[in-house]
Amino acid sequence: MPTYRDEGIILRTFNLGEADRIVTILTRSHGKVRAVAKGVRRTASKFGSRLEPFMVTDVQFYQGRSSLDTIQQAETLGPYGADIAGHYDRFTAASVMAETAERLTDAEKATNQYTLLLGALRSLSRGEHAPHLTLDSYLMRAFSLAGWSPSLDTCSRCGSPEDLTAFVVHFGGMVCATCAPPGSARVGSDTVEIFEALLTGQWDFLESVDRRHLARVSSLISAHTQWHLERALKSLEHVAR
Ligand SMILES: [Zn+2]
Repeated sequence: MPTYRDEGIILRTFNLGEADRIVTILTRSHGKVRAVAKGVRRTASKFGSRLEPFMVTDVQFYQGRSSLDTIQQAETLGPYGADIAGHYDRFTAASVMAETAERLTDAEKATNQYTLLLGALRSLSRGEHAPHLTLDSYLMRAFSLAGWSPSLDTCSRCGSPEDLTAFVVHFGGMVCATCAPPGSARVGSDTVEIFEALLTGQWDFLESVDRRHLARVSSLISAHTQWHLERALKSLEHVAR
């Protein structure tokens, strides 16, 4: 049977021709799937609104001969899209999460990444925590699942656990005083504490931390994210050749 059913999170959509839409979905059991939804833009169809970014949907796919599967049916499981899109800071956080998930996954089953993104979007849609905290926590955990956690308790160059004084993105995390290049960003154990709290979801602690400290950690996490995603893209390009 060339059809299959799975639940999935809509990561991205773009319009095709007059009435169709191509949808990128991170599924629970089939990894990342790109599929076409035919005719969804012709009317204000309910079908179309189920296939908006950040919606969690039960989808029936038809596996045709082309590289794109076709979406035959879609039922909403988690209508998170509306509660996210209505708030600018939730929307920007969710967009970064969806883009990260898209880059970190492929057609291989990635249930851990799926479950992580599902929980983060649900939390965002309910406004459980400040969106920037949900985002940073998501990024730390997504990279941890991908095997790209920043090194926090040992020097990322020499492995020493002593005298960790700086964070250097292109070395992969904390470095000791001996390995730190001149001019590198100095950070202390309080910064490492925040990284660990994000990784383990210590929300009460995170909500009590000074905003400037959090902003500093956020900028290190964005730099870490950008560094790894660019490298991931390059390695994918390499594979494609
Ligand atoms: Zn070192």
